[in-house]
Amino acid sequence: MRLVLDGVAVTIDGTPIVREADLIVEPGSFAALVGPNGCGKSTLLRTIYRALRPAAGLISLNDEDLRKLKHRETARRIAVVAQEYPAELDFTVEDVVLMGRTPHKRPLSRTTGEDLQRCAEALERVSATGLARRSFVTLSGGEKQRVLIARALAQESSLLLLDEPTNHLDIRHQLDVLHLVRDLGLTTLAALHDLNHALEFADRIYVMDTGRVVADELTPEVIARVFGVRAVSRTQYVFERLKEET
Ligand code: ADP
Ligand code: MG
Repeated sequence: MRLVLDGVAVTIDGTPIVREADLIVEPGSFAALVGPNGCGKSTLLRTIYRALRPAAGLISLNDEDLRKLKHRETARRIAVVAQEYPAELDFTVEDVVLMGRTPHKRPLSRTTGEDLQRCAEALERVSATGLARRSFVTLSGGEKQRVLIARALAQESSLLLLDEPTNHLDIRHQLDVLHLVRDLGLTTLAALHDLNHALEFADRIYVMDTGRVVADELTPEVIARVFGVRAVSRTQYVFERLKEET
């Protein structure tokens, strides 16, 4: 599914937060969104998944204007791994993943065998089958992220949006999440904190600065201009996983 943003602007309480954002995420590709804290990455993602309404511009999925889709239809096409975890309620992991089935069900309809099957497949895909009966709130950060990705998979959407999915994870779990997401092969747009991770994992990097998408590649010049730091390449450790995700 191709995601296109054309001149998207977002205003919150009269303050422009995003201005004229243009970007394209090609079908099956992984695009990263980077930029300093507060530049508008989360706001832009929230606008794409329709938690916020754009003040101007067009967002389309496969040439279809998002505004023309019913919210339920949007939920079938777009899966989100947001920064906030689901409310601190005592849901089991299986319940959390089953929430991904909601857009495929009629309101108040029961969980079907197919729902459970999809849920089990999704948990297996993220190597979290053993967690199904655990309470979500008791999981480690890395386990929570994998379960939220499973919920997105159970949703069977073709566009995946992630907001800083590696936050608070150690290096090994950061790599697990990034490999996992890339290997899903979905059309993916992820706000990423770590510039080296963006360079390593993304097919395309969009750089935001004070509400604008100012570059579609991450060069030392762009890094200097946007982040105010010099990018120096020097001998350093490159981390590779010793074995496949645990
Ligand atoms: P990022 O994710 O890049 O760190 P955000 O999209 O969270 O940036 O925020 C961009 C700017 O918008 C910030 O200045 C933030 O304070 C402001 N902002 C975000 N959400 C709101 C809101 N609900 N009300 C007022 N200001 C907001
Ligand atoms: Mg953010």
